[in-house]
Amino acid sequence: MDQHFINNENVTALKQEVHRLKERIAQLEEQILFIQQKCQHAFFETPSIRKCVKCQYVESLHY
Ligand SMILES: [Zn+2]
Repeated sequence: MDQHFINNENVTALKQEVHRLKERIAQLEEQILFIQQKCQHAFFETPSIRKCVKCQYVESLHY
């Protein structure tokens, strides 16, 4: 019974950690968007996309 309880505690802790990290990822993605919005882009072009070498912002060149 104790063992079962310990396992449940572990799952709860792991789920909390997953939730925390998802929130952290969302924060980091917002930071990237913020940087990309302020960037003076310097694009590197390929036939299908162009990508900023500074902030990694990607634009599709499909019309
Ligand atoms: Zn840029």
